Amino acid sequence: MFKKIFGSKNDRYLKKLTPIIARINALEPEMEALADIDFPAKVAAWKGQVAAGEKTLDDLLPECFALVREAGRRAFDPPMRHFDVQLIGGIVLHQGKIAEMKTGEGKTLVATLAVVLNALSGKGVHVVTVNDYLARRDAEWMGQLYNFLGLTVGVIVHGLNDQERQEAYRADITYGTNNEFGFDYLRDNMKFYKEQLVQRPLNFAIVDEVDSILIDEARTPLIISGPGEKSSGLYRRVDAIVPKLVKSSPTDPEDKDAVPDGDFVLDEKTKSITLTDAGVEKVEGLLGLDNLFDPQNIALQHHVLQAVKAHHCFQRDVEYIVKDDQVVLVDEFTGRLMPGRRLSDGLHQAIEAKENVKVEAENQTLASITFQNYFRMYEKLAGMTGTADTEAVEFQQIYGLEVIVIPTNMPMVREDNPDSIYKTQEEKYKAIAEDIEDCHRRGQPVLVGTVSIEKSELISNLLKKLKVPHNVLNAKQHEREAEIVLEAGHKGKVTIATNMAGRGTDIKLGEGVCELGGLHIIGTERHESRRIDNQLRGRAGRQGDPGSSRFYLALDDDLMRLFGSDRLKGIMEKLGLEDGMAIENKMVSNAIEKSQTRVEGHHYEIRKQLLEYDDVMNQQREAIYGLRRELMETKEVESIAREYADDLLEDILEAALDVKGGADKETVESVRARLEEVFNFERFPEWAKSGLPDMDQAHKWVDDIFAYLRASTGEHYQEILRYFLLDSLDRNWKEHLLNMDHLRDGIGLRGYGQKDPKQEYKREGFELFSELVYTIKENALRAFSHLRIQAEVKDDEFKHEDTDDLQYTDSGSAQDKKPVTVRKDAKIPRNAPCPCGSGKKYKKCCGA
Ligand code: ADP
Repeated sequence: MFKKIFGSKNDRYLKKLTPIIARINALEPEMEALADIDFPAKVAAWKGQVAAGEKTLDDLLPECFALVREAGRRAFDPPMRHFDVQLIGGIVLHQGKIAEMKTGEGKTLVATLAVVLNALSGKGVHVVTVNDYLARRDAEWMGQLYNFLGLTVGVIVHGLNDQERQEAYRADITYGTNNEFGFDYLRDNMKFYKEQLVQRPLNFAIVDEVDSILIDEARTPLIISGPGEKSSGLYRRVDAIVPKLVKSSPTDPEDKDAVPDGDFVLDEKTKSITLTDAGVEKVEGLLGLDNLFDPQNIALQHHVLQAVKAHHCFQRDVEYIVKDDQVVLVDEFTGRLMPGRRLSDGLHQAIEAKENVKVEAENQTLASITFQNYFRMYEKLAGMTGTADTEAVEFQQIYGLEVIVIPTNMPMVREDNPDSIYKTQEEKYKAIAEDIEDCHRRGQPVLVGTVSIEKSELISNLLKKLKVPHNVLNAKQHEREAEIVLEAGHKGKVTIATNMAGRGTDIKLGEGVCELGGLHIIGTERHESRRIDNQLRGRAGRQGDPGSSRFYLALDDDLMRLFGSDRLKGIMEKLGLEDGMAIENKMVSNAIEKSQTRVEGHHYEIRKQLLEYDDVMNQQREAIYGLRRELMETKEVESIAREYADDLLEDILEAALDVKGGADKETVESVRARLEEVFNFERFPEWAKSGLPDMDQAHKWVDDIFAYLRASTGEHYQEILRYFLLDSLDRNWKEHLLNMDHLRDGIGLRGYGQKDPKQEYKREGFELFSELVYTIKENALRAFSHLRIQAEVKDDEFKHEDTDDLQYTDSGSAQDKKPVTVRKDAKIPRNAPCPCGSGKKYKKCCGA
């Protein structure tokens, strides 16, 4: 009612853009009159004006959009002139918002407007796609327009080397996947020389399928890892006992005293496992342990839970497939394979053990970031998708991104039928098969959406029995995908697909299909999120095409079973649903939508929690990466190193010197030991005297240490200091990541007292971080002060090994060839990292 009187916020926003659109349209004759060669000239001139600060991007928007529109007419064959609604989309993107535009509205072309305008800044524009195929396709396709305007385009895809990446990032416009952009960021923060960095500062990104990337994928962070130490034997040993553990049957949630009857309880909603008392005893017996909860068995306990999870929450061909002796994850939302992505925390290894394939070495995290945090670093961020409206609150709260719903170019005429609801799945599938057969007989193309590969196959089998020819689009047929989608709108075609998000190509209708009612969409159950359902529906009715959709549901569908409210059941009973009969009822559909909203809310809370925890890590990462950049780029390495040295020295000495009447013998001894350890003062003859040096004397010795280094390393002095500082930072940061992981795992168990686990995590995380900063300084200093330099240092010997293939492996031996020897008699704690930088413990390396 309110909305009707005042118009929605969205309407008011769109209305405000009307005069701008009018201006762009008014400029059209002027642009039509230009010669082809005028286009790059104009762009170059604007670039100059922006660089000189004479014009802002906003000033140039109308003219620039008008130019791009005319360029679209000339550069493409057949010509593409941006529609007015596409201009609106372009403005929305330029303003750093999310443009919701339905499938087939031409988002790929919409992006060009904001891309070109923002490329005028010369600071780079990133267009983020969901896969390499789309990155290449869009860069090439839209590249015709960019090149016509004299702008350069780069593409970042898997398998490029650093030099190729640098080139692609230097271009005015860079296309690539979220994974590639994110990994490049992480890899850059592991480099040793600024010349090796591939990315420029993050300026503006337009994220295509923004809901897929920022919401669906937000739960899995990007991780760069190197091999850790655990053996595969452990996984196999634990795996062997899982089949002997019995799953408890579900108990009535109302009955608080119900005792589970099995060895473990699986909570289907949260996918969490808990062992029952009987289960614990059984596990102890099977593994030959006295007490599973003994601190020394913490790791084992963890592995048992993961193994049970691997067996009971992960189904082959649903959550993953086994291909070439490897466990490859399947994206739950798109059904695509995700080669290279691994579940963390030993879960992937547990599945490998279950499938009896090679158990990969457990990896240690070297760097990680969530997509949220990566994309939040851009100066400006925008997105586009066909379905963002249902998640508008999350986009606003987490990313500060506003969603604008943009009207379609042609009126939408798709007929969305009410849900058909059946008592059982069996009856439902029968009805679905009949609907498909009917369409097929009449020649109307059908797209059938399922939630899993398994369900796709079930329908495929039904159709085989009915002799209805069809295509199945799922992870296993990845390669033929584009081809199948291209044909899906042709007469008589039947296409079955797991989730359609990010499939790229839109479905165009074949000849004579309009008369038959266009594309018909069948949903075989409701997804947990309404957005995914909308994506499926959105495949029909593009650009004013006819089309229709219907969802088929059953009372025993997972969603209905797990989240359907009792109210829903009540309604159904009142309506008197009989066997084999369907009902179509608005009230029921609404109730289902309510339960979907509840599930969405539940998932949102999980993501928000995750983010709140991740925020702690994120602040630390920003601080460390910031420090790293500074160390990498500064010309004043020496003064930074000196500052660290002075801080440490004062820290250590002051404790003893400040004591009234002099420190006792014990304190003096321990301070001496610390000074020896960190500063190697024993290299100075005066040190032999007992007692402590005064502050001036100590500072002078530190001067001498630096003077010695400077004299013996000559022109390499700064680089050597830089090397040791960065090396110490990386080594300790890696360690810190592991500590933070443990802290986080453990914090959940601390729900005791009045303590808020998140606050505890923050507080202890901060303490760990302060220690980290101290340790970084100390380790670097220890390395400097124990250095004995050999005669000649060759240039390239100090280059850090290329971090190119760090993505899934570690370059652990990178430091082996350093031209540095360590005096054997130096007093370095035996378990400290060896100052030669090998990464081994001192006792196992130079101290051996
Ligand atoms: P979306 O990603 O929004 O679903 P696409 O970018 O895949 O849509 O474009 C759908 C189709 O519409 C493409 O084949 C494209 O060539 C066509 N198209 C988009 N905009 C225009 C336009 N202004 N004029 C002509 N064709 C267009």
